[in-house]
Amino acid sequence: MDHKFVRAVFPGSFDPITNGHLDVVKRGMRLFDELIIAVGRSPVKNQLFTPEERVEMIAELIEGLPGVVVESFDGLTVEYAAKRQATVILRGLRSLTDVQYEFQLALTNRAVAGIETIFIMSSEQYGFTSSTLIREVASLGGDLSNLIPASVQKRLAGRFSRLRAKQDDAASG
Ligand code: ADP
Repeated sequence: MDHKFVRAVFPGSFDPITNGHLDVVKRGMRLFDELIIAVGRSPVKNQLFTPEERVEMIAELIEGLPGVVVESFDGLTVEYAAKRQATVILRGLRSLTDVQYEFQLALTNRAVAGIETIFIMSSEQYGFTSSTLIREVASLGGDLSNLIPASVQKRLAGRFSRLRAKQDDAASG
């Protein structure tokens, strides 16, 4: 049987990328010929890293993973997927609470663009890992070495020590 080339996009904020995201990437890369990790550029509240920084962090981590690339994109995920000729959207599931929102999103994307979404459950050990909580714990100086790669932990530490220095300056000035 002829093999059809299947390209998938894994869209998200990835602010920052966690071991949970990477787990989904490593499981997903086995199912597709090419997997594009797509960092959304749409302005989100409480953004910690710029899209460029997020792409840079991810690029370091996927080096050597065959068929996995990272890009950033503007606007609608389905339009970006069409432009890149991707036929699948990949999303990760942590828990039942994710399902409700993801279900709605997947059905909307299918209704408006006819694109299918495939879900992968991350390993149980990352079932509670979210970028939001990672940012919160990191801002308080917590150890996150089980949940994010060392390179990401380093960047977070750098970002928050600079933010703290700025706040101290502002308080004393
Ligand atoms: P978004 O803002 O689009 O939800 P995220 O970066 O938070 O972007 O998440 C991107 C995708 O990765 C989503 O499908 C999300 O459910 C999934 N995801 C996030 N963290 C995990 C995790 N720990 N395990 C499995 N999937 C995850």
